[in-house]
Amino acid sequence: MYPNWILQRAYLTPTRQALVFHEQSWTFEQLKEQSLQRAHQLTTLGVQQGSRVAIMGPSTPYFVMMLYACMHLQCEIVLLNRRLTKEELAYQLADSEAVMVLVADEDQEKLPPHVQQYTFSTIANSAEMAVDIAQEWSIQHTISIMYTSGTTGFPKGVRQTVGNHQASATASVLNIGLQTEDAWLCAVPLFHISGLSIIVRSLLYGNAIYLYDQFDVETITQHIIDGDVTHMSVVAVTLERILHTLEQQNAQASPRFKVMLAGGGPVPVDYLQRAYQRKLAVVQTYGMTETASQTATLTSEDGLRKIGSAGKPLFFNQLRINEPNGHGEGEICIRGPHVTPGYIGRYADKSTTVNGWLHTGDIGYIDAEGYLFVLDRRADLIISGGENIYPAEIENVLLTHPAVQEAGVCGQEDERWGQVPIAFVVLKETITTEQLQVFCQQKLARYKVPKEIIMVDELPRNGANKLLRRQLKKE
Ligand code: ATP
Ligand code: MG
Repeated sequence: MYPNWILQRAYLTPTRQALVFHEQSWTFEQLKEQSLQRAHQLTTLGVQQGSRVAIMGPSTPYFVMMLYACMHLQCEIVLLNRRLTKEELAYQLADSEAVMVLVADEDQEKLPPHVQQYTFSTIANSAEMAVDIAQEWSIQHTISIMYTSGTTGFPKGVRQTVGNHQASATASVLNIGLQTEDAWLCAVPLFHISGLSIIVRSLLYGNAIYLYDQFDVETITQHIIDGDVTHMSVVAVTLERILHTLEQQNAQASPRFKVMLAGGGPVPVDYLQRAYQRKLAVVQTYGMTETASQTATLTSEDGLRKIGSAGKPLFFNQLRINEPNGHGEGEICIRGPHVTPGYIGRYADKSTTVNGWLHTGDIGYIDAEGYLFVLDRRADLIISGGENIYPAEIENVLLTHPAVQEAGVCGQEDERWGQVPIAFVVLKETITTEQLQVFCQQKLARYKVPKEIIMVDELPRNGANKLLRRQLKKE
């Protein structure tokens, strides 16, 4: 058994700053008091301890308070992505069998019809009823249920236990270190593991979170320049926006800013180099919903020497490439205390774990020094005339061109080669497709050069801003 994180943190460091949002801030004691109050109000409304409850809303202190209230009640919290369509939400609500949705007032109209729901203001206005708050949590208890991005198929509801989250937060801090004044800037969604893991780390480490409900690039970049935050998590797209803003202002990251974790998908090497020019320490990390965030992360000192690598596994974790010779390219498999015990709903019986090893569906290799390189998703692999082509490699090359803002590559059926790569690009400066083809020819083997390059206004992305390669289509 482990102590209730929220009570324990408030007991240990009650007066420390826990949360900053716009001009307001909260201490750990205040978060405890307010979340207990919400737990008592939820009890009045009939939320049973241990029940499965969904929650949806923007990243606000109120949302954090609701999360903590549900944790106090030992609910299994289904975190809904507020960017989904009604249909997608209906799928996740049915699949998870959540008994009700706690919803921010502004998101109420996004919910599908006939859903048992309470808005945040209804909860805030209700009476309080005493309830025994669990002082201890069991390691197997499911704290959160999070649906995968559905990049490759139906979203899968992943169980994330007390043990998974604790192992993840502990392994992370063994890698990147901890100081009292550390503060994480959280501008990634709380309904994804990248955001929720920042909440967990704050409770376990006693660090402040600077929370953002929008990706306000100017303000966020200013925090990095001023150094009043020390850590941040980004995906490739948001990293690019920060770099662009730093470059425009010819500014650098403050020496107080420690590290930016870049994950969720491949991060173009070019971005990492640009970050280095701005004295911004960015490390690539490899993680997924099923592993309660990071499995492997590059250390800062290896940042440039091993550029493009997702580093070595965090202390408790093991990595293996499932491939007959034990080296070379193959499916990445992961074992460790951070790996989910399994899915719920439709995928409940379809475990991707064999003998404790999670089969990720990602292809990669481990180099002679033990560093992981993630190549791509197995499902996105293009096989052209018997050669393996990884879309990410071609996207990476296109993104090094100054005229290219975004790039997406997929396979197209071809009579002669089986498949050939084609590319979709969003431009920031004018250039012809011929010029881009020539550029690719200089940098890529012939079979990898996109057979066609198509200019588009935007690329299909999901709620996590991830490129949906399977939706890349010619008009
Ligand atoms: P679904 O499983 O439903 O298709 P998803 O896998 O996109 O969705 P997430 O769990 O949010 O859902 O994302 C994890 C995936 O993101 C990894 O399996 C991997 O494909 C990709 N990814 C994460 N980090 C990296 C990285 N550093 N380099 C390359 N790919 C990465
Ligand atoms: Mg996945």
